[in-house]
Amino acid sequence: MDIENAKQGLYAFLDGHAPYFDAVADAIWEHPELSLKEHYAAALYCEKLRELGFTVTEKLGGIDTAFCGSYGAGRPVIGILGEFDALGGLSQKAGAAAPEALIPGGAGHGCGHNLLGAGSLAAAAAVKSWLQESGAPGTVIFFGCPGEEGGAGKAFLAREGYWKRLDAALCWHPADANQTATGSNNSSIQVLYKFSGVPAHAAGDPFNGRSALDAVELMNVGAQFLREHVTPDCRIHYAILNAGGVSPNVVQAQASVLYMTRAKRVRDNVALLRRVDDLARGAALMTGTTFERVFVDGTAETVSNSVLEKALYDNLRAVGAPEYDEADYALAASLRATYPGSGLDGIIGAREDAAIREAVRALSDDGAKPLNDFLAPFYSGDSFSPGSTDVGDVSWQTPTAQVETVCWPAGVPGHSWQIVACGKSGLAHKGMLLAAKVLAATAVDLLTDEKLLAAARAEFETRAAEGYVCPIEPDAVPLAL
Ligand SMILES: [Zn+2]
Ligand SMILES: [Zn+2]
Repeated sequence: MDIENAKQGLYAFLDGHAPYFDAVADAIWEHPELSLKEHYAAALYCEKLRELGFTVTEKLGGIDTAFCGSYGAGRPVIGILGEFDALGGLSQKAGAAAPEALIPGGAGHGCGHNLLGAGSLAAAAAVKSWLQESGAPGTVIFFGCPGEEGGAGKAFLAREGYWKRLDAALCWHPADANQTATGSNNSSIQVLYKFSGVPAHAAGDPFNGRSALDAVELMNVGAQFLREHVTPDCRIHYAILNAGGVSPNVVQAQASVLYMTRAKRVRDNVALLRRVDDLARGAALMTGTTFERVFVDGTAETVSNSVLEKALYDNLRAVGAPEYDEADYALAASLRATYPGSGLDGIIGAREDAAIREAVRALSDDGAKPLNDFLAPFYSGDSFSPGSTDVGDVSWQTPTAQVETVCWPAGVPGHSWQIVACGKSGLAHKGMLLAAKVLAATAVDLLTDEKLLAAARAEFETRAAEGYVCPIEPDAVPLAL
């Protein structure tokens, strides 16, 4: 088989179908839906998957907005992951260079998941067309993964062992750099503690009252003291969701606090959470209240795979950076003027490796370009991101890697109105097309190169040898807060 010919076929398919997949990304941008409520997106994707000739399974793992579309037969089985949830409060007009909500208080695609899902769908469709034409054995599955920003759909599916059936999983994320992701990130777990007490007149008979708000406050005080006695990588965040109301002259009988714990390793995070549970027990005991504990979600840290990272980068290099035009630079420059900081912070290799930092300085005119319009040099190795993603849970069950492509201006803040403003632009569409080509070409490499797949698997077996600790508790159900 002429693999180069096959890849040219994938690229031609994707160039030819670019308007089709751009329209999917734009439609999702125009219907931003919060985590685990992505009903418009799930319906649109299932319709497109059927139109493209995939066999669709809905409500994966009992989750309303999780689904997959598969094509082909037998091994290898390559999964391509898609996401489509938006973020609250980030409604923003497309192309505007100042914060201006389309719908005040509405949601917006501040993480580019409108592109992420559509680019992954495009890649899966290209692989499907190649499988169909070549008659080669193997299966490609597009996974519609809800709740990346909250809810951790992939982790709930990991609890059911979903990803073990894959020979490898590929994903991408819109970014401000053309690069492969590498290294790891924090595990994260969220639990809601809902305290109940006894209401009373705050002056008349406070001795008859038991304050749920007191319990929340004492739990949080406990957390401040706990911080000194955990390992330095641990993080404890909380948000008071219900402070009991607006009246100081009643004893507040209901109050709730949402905790998020983080640690570099999921097994340490699960242990940290047990100690936070103790804070809730102690606070309830001190105040004579009771509490309900509601598990919300959790994610594991990512197990990286340098074999897959290299395979993705080889294809990134082969396709090359898109040709950006004046409109792309103009949009990037107008948005770049709205935030401070370096345009190079998002380039992983530049953070970790002095030689790459120098190379990137030269490529970016010392960070002055509004757009990182080049391929960041290949870097695979140590790197740490303090954030969390449920791609981590996939990576404990099958070799997994991600590519990132430029869809936004250099140095743009994450989860920002600027990202929403870019989400339907030509720049974003170019980044999505590049990602689709790289994912499709790498999937075909994995479907045709036994040695590559075996090397990725061998690295996975070593790196994931200690075994996956699923942060999702056995009786937990996906919960949209
Ligand atoms: Zn995000
Ligand atoms: Zn994201």
